[in-house]
Amino acid sequence: MVVKETWMIQPGSLPLWVHPVFKRDVRELSGCADVIYEYASEHEIKPYGGTEIFKNTIKIIHDHGMKFFVSLGTGDRFSVINPCTWHLVHPETWIEWPPDAIDPTPWIKRSCVNNPVFIEYTKQYYSNLFSNYDVDGVGFDEPHEFPCVCKYCQRKFEELNHRKMSGRGDEENIRFQAESLAEYISMISDIAKQTDLKTACVVGPRPEAYLHELLVKTKDLDYFGPDPYWIYPGSQKDISWVSEMTKAYRKICDVGKKLLWVVIQGHNIPSGREVEIYEAGRLAAENGADVLCGYFHWRGTENPEATWDTIFRMLIDFGQKR
Ligand SMILES: [Zn+2]
Repeated sequence: MVVKETWMIQPGSLPLWVHPVFKRDVRELSGCADVIYEYASEHEIKPYGGTEIFKNTIKIIHDHGMKFFVSLGTGDRFSVINPCTWHLVHPETWIEWPPDAIDPTPWIKRSCVNNPVFIEYTKQYYSNLFSNYDVDGVGFDEPHEFPCVCKYCQRKFEELNHRKMSGRGDEENIRFQAESLAEYISMISDIAKQTDLKTACVVGPRPEAYLHELLVKTKDLDYFGPDPYWIYPGSQKDISWVSEMTKAYRKICDVGKKLLWVVIQGHNIPSGREVEIYEAGRLAAENGADVLCGYFHWRGTENPEATWDTIFRMLIDFGQKR
C-alpha cells in the first residue's frame, strides 16, 4: 500500500540550510519526501535584514526535486511554534474574549479574523509573499475558532442575523467564529490560487466539528486532514486511533473532494517507542491517506536519531520514492 505523495514538516529555521552543513539534510530529505512543509514566522520570510536567504533556501529545495509549502503564524493563527510579532504591536486587532469564556492560552494574543486592519494586513502579506518568492503551496496549521465579542464581530453578527449578539462565549458565538475563520482561510486560498499555488489545511482531530465541515467545503483548498498524535504526556491513546481518525477524515474528504493528508507524530517520542511511528504511517496509508507527512521535532523526543531513521523509513516504504 503506497500513498500518492510524501511530505515532511520542518519546524522552522529552514533558511539555515544555505549553510553547507545543512545542505546534507536537504539531500537526505529529498530521498524520502516530495514536499517540504515549513512552519515559519513572518521574520523567516525576510531574515537577516531582507537578504536573499529565504529565496536561496527555496531554490535549494527545488534543485533537489522537492516542492515547498509554508504555513505562517500571522496573527498567531496558523503556526504556534514560530511566534510572529506584527499582531503584538497591533493590540487593536486582538480577540476580545467574552466575560464568561475562559481563554485556554491567555499568554498567546491572537488577531480576530473579523478585524479589518488584520484582514488588510493579511491580504498584503500573502500577496507579497506569493509574488516575491517561488513557493509552491501555503498551509493552514490547526485553525481553531475562539469566541470573540469585539465590535467588528458584533457588527458582522448583527448584519447577518438582524439581531444583537448574546455577548457570551456560547454555541452561537462559536458557530459564527467558525464561519468567519473558514471565510478568512478561503480569502487567503483565493489569493494563493491567483498564482496557482496549492493549499493545505491540517486540523487537530475533531471530526464532528462544525469548523471542519466548513473547511472541507472551501473551494480553493486542495489538501485537508488530521494530525492524530497518540503519544502525549498525560493523554496516551492506543495507536489504533490513527486508523480511526484516518477513516473518519477519509469520509469527510470524499464529500468535499479533497486530498487527505495525515501528519504522523515525530515529537514527544519516548525512547523505545520509535517503531510506533512506522506503524502509524502504515495505518494511515492502509486507511486511505493520499499524503503521508512526517513531522520531526526535537521537543520531548528522547532518541532523535532513531526517531528520524523511523520517519525516513516510513516515508520510503509507504511513498513513491522506494
Ligand atoms: Zn472579533
